Amino acid sequence: MKRDKIVIVGGGVAGISAATKLVDNNYPGELITIIDMGKDPYNRKPEEVMTGMLGAGGWSDGKLTYHTAIGGQLSKYCGDKKAMELMDQVITNFKRFHPKPEEVQCSDPHEEPEFIKPYFGLRLFPVWHVGTDYLSEIAKNWYDYLVSKGVQFMWEAKVENIDFQRNELTYSYYDHQVKYYNTKFGDKIIFAVGKSGIDFAQQLAQDYKLPDEPKSVQIGCRYEAPQEHFQKLIDVSYDFKLYRKFDDEGVSLRSFCTNNNAAFVAVEETYGDHSYNGHAKKDEAYRNNMTNFGILMEIKGIEDPFTWSREVVNKLQSNNTGLYYSPSRTPSTTSEGNGVSVTQIGLDTLTHVVEPAMEGYFKYVWDFIQDMKKVFPTLGDDWGIYIPEVKYLSPEVKVNYKNLSLIDYPNIHFVGDALSARGITVSGAQGIMVAESILQPTEFPEFIENFN
Ligand SMILES: Cc1cc2nc3c(=O)[nH]c(=O)nc-3n(C[C@H](O)[C@H](O)[C@H](O)COP(=O)(O)OP(=O)(O)OC[C@H]3O[C@@H](n4cnc5c(N)ncnc54)[C@H](O)[C@@H]3O)c2cc1C
Repeated sequence: MKRDKIVIVGGGVAGISAATKLVDNNYPGELITIIDMGKDPYNRKPEEVMTGMLGAGGWSDGKLTYHTAIGGQLSKYCGDKKAMELMDQVITNFKRFHPKPEEVQCSDPHEEPEFIKPYFGLRLFPVWHVGTDYLSEIAKNWYDYLVSKGVQFMWEAKVENIDFQRNELTYSYYDHQVKYYNTKFGDKIIFAVGKSGIDFAQQLAQDYKLPDEPKSVQIGCRYEAPQEHFQKLIDVSYDFKLYRKFDDEGVSLRSFCTNNNAAFVAVEETYGDHSYNGHAKKDEAYRNNMTNFGILMEIKGIEDPFTWSREVVNKLQSNNTGLYYSPSRTPSTTSEGNGVSVTQIGLDTLTHVVEPAMEGYFKYVWDFIQDMKKVFPTLGDDWGIYIPEVKYLSPEVKVNYKNLSLIDYPNIHFVGDALSARGITVSGAQGIMVAESILQPTEFPEFIENFN
């Protein structure tokens, strides 16, 4: 069988899951090159949140969501059954490279508790917990495996352009030297640049006029409070997801990515602006008894959601950081013991800067917070918010559902957050799906006929 050279742009979970599936099935590793602008797992520092081996997922909270309704698009390409099977493969890989696989536990809540019902719904779905503290070890084991299989890695090399017609990549090393990577026409490129490559994906989409699918805005803040206030709900669901919907107004809200016990707020820097996220440490030494989660609004009907979100985020900056509001608290420290990079503001700024910047939508977040006080009566003023938290959903380019390749460029495959994923499991699953299509081009044909 003819074997193509495969260039994977991005060594995040999507890219390396694709490579792993290939070499696990005897695809020659020597034909696979992974190019990443970050560092290998032995040199990547914890503060390099977004780039390097295992990508943004590499130093994240390691919560592997396990449901087709969570984490972005997967079933729409391959159906629910196949989606679950692909997610199983991702979770198996995390266990396989985990130094203590027996510690990977699944939480699977079933009952929606009565006390939240008047104000919120609760989304119930299983989550596998890997633990942030183990992710760097996992990354090293995973990397060593791929290297042992002959996979080539190019670190600190930023791909600047891809010529789709000539199948040629332009990249620059950290020393800014520009080089070309020539692939033959017919060779494959897996584009897996995640969120840190979102502007690059956007640029390519514009240059090649790639058709895309409509997306909604996802914006809000990261909420933080002592864990004791939420314990009653955490006992039911560790990674709880509260939600509410205002169908007539095109807005829904959900709590997102809940961290407990040793919970820290992390700064994400995109386009030079700060936004916030969170992660948890598993090691007891880091315990701070805090809970944090995003309060994210999904807003429909905004014409250019990407530009709108970027402009809002830019308006929510002060002193080159995002904003922090609390009626009683001060910002927390990071897991490294430094203050979270943020500017504290008062109610006045919340009213006169944050509300207008969010064009009236902040009231939904505010009401969510006020209603949480009713559901968790000890909360009172004992909370703070880091503004903004944002999910820049890159315009989802239209792809062939059978193998996630671009409609007009069948050798270029988009995967992970660069396509339509929003989390580790779905990103990895999309990478594996592409690898399977390369190994076995005719997989699940009956589904393709129906959906493509
Ligand atoms: C702090 C934090 C906590 C998170 N916690 C969770 C969680 O608990 N559970 C969950 O499911 N998800 C979580 N996420 C989201 C999750 O990390 C992402 O959804 C996932 O990593 C996406 O995988 P990916 O491979 O598509 O992209 P990424 O992991 O973002 O990897 C993309 C890679 O591409 C490289 N790259 C980008 N542009 C270029 C370029 N031009 N040239 C070369 N290389 C490039 C980057 O260096 C990066 O390594 C978290 C994210 C953050 C930031």
